[in-house]
Amino acid sequence: FERKKHIRFFTRILQILPSRYAILDTSRLTVAFFALSGLGVLDALDAIPDKDKQEIIEWIYTLQVVGNKAKSSAFNCVFNCRDIIYFSFCYTESMETTNNYDCSHIAMTYTGLASLLILGDDLRRVNKHACLEGIKALQLPDGSFKSSYDGSENDMRFIYCACCVCTMLDDFSAINQATATNFIMKSLCHDGAFGQGPGHESHGGSTYCACASLQLMGRLTTTLSPKQLKRLEYWCISRQRNGFNGRPHKDDDTCYSFWVGASLKILGIFDLVDFKENENFVLSTQDIIVGGFAKWPQINPDALHSYMGVCGLALMSLHSLQPVDPTLNISERARLHMQTLHEQWAVARKHKEAVSRVRTKS
Ligand SMILES: [Zn+2]
Repeated sequence: FERKKHIRFFTRILQILPSRYAILDTSRLTVAFFALSGLGVLDALDAIPDKDKQEIIEWIYTLQVVGNKAKSSAFNCVFNCRDIIYFSFCYTESMETTNNYDCSHIAMTYTGLASLLILGDDLRRVNKHACLEGIKALQLPDGSFKSSYDGSENDMRFIYCACCVCTMLDDFSAINQATATNFIMKSLCHDGAFGQGPGHESHGGSTYCACASLQLMGRLTTTLSPKQLKRLEYWCISRQRNGFNGRPHKDDDTCYSFWVGASLKILGIFDLVDFKENENFVLSTQDIIVGGFAKWPQINPDALHSYMGVCGLALMSLHSLQPVDPTLNISERARLHMQTLHEQWAVARKHKEAVSRVRTKS
């Protein structure tokens, strides 16, 4: 395990990228998240100088989009990508603050908030109300979420992003959990796992999004019957060959060591994984010259597979990696920071309520 090279790989991503990444320009924040969270899981955030960390935090906040009530029938929110995709947001009565190309994206909102938590930010400058209104505006009558207000695909990935955002902001009021759960259950396939939507083939990525979303909503074991849980566990553990694949009869792929591995963690049966075979496969996709991990052995490493490779190994507590939270896909350390913020918000909320009660009485 080439720890030092992986640290260099992720720090390089934050500085400069090869031209083949140009197509990811609109999701630049997600690429930054892979690098930042990768360094977090490698316990190497110190590799970013404090000044640069602050600059990244400032950059993320510049991506907070101000939506426009006048232009939309509902609040247009979420972190966006102006030069690119933004990470989220809000609504204002004034037209001047927005332009037609400032749209937000739910995945950027999730990775933007996650990156701020990883960097130790207190989320004080996040417009939580607008962010939640933005999430609410993206839910469709069938319970699924689209990714941006102006229209996009709607599937399991964006339900997952919505659940992560609401978890990070400690407020699930923006999600109609009953319809979201209904959409997830309608996406349960005949073979026991989840597709991206009703009628779609079961897939490791959508199965992860479904399991994690149900877990984040606190509905996993109350929604799935014991028989459905058993079938889901069987499907997930059957994805291991050496590493994991995402569907039956497909090749192993590094990212599924996390997607399926984390699903098994959420289901509480991760101990059934053959750690040695899984580790050997992930390490076979490691680039021992420039660092990082690829989808398969002997091809170029990329940001996503490097991050998922490191997280897949972290789930097995190998190579002194930081523990990863399987539902939010951030380090346990970042999740604990989030919890501390939530406790502070709860104290502040109680204080505010007490003050307003005293004022009402007097
Ligand atoms: Zn993959």
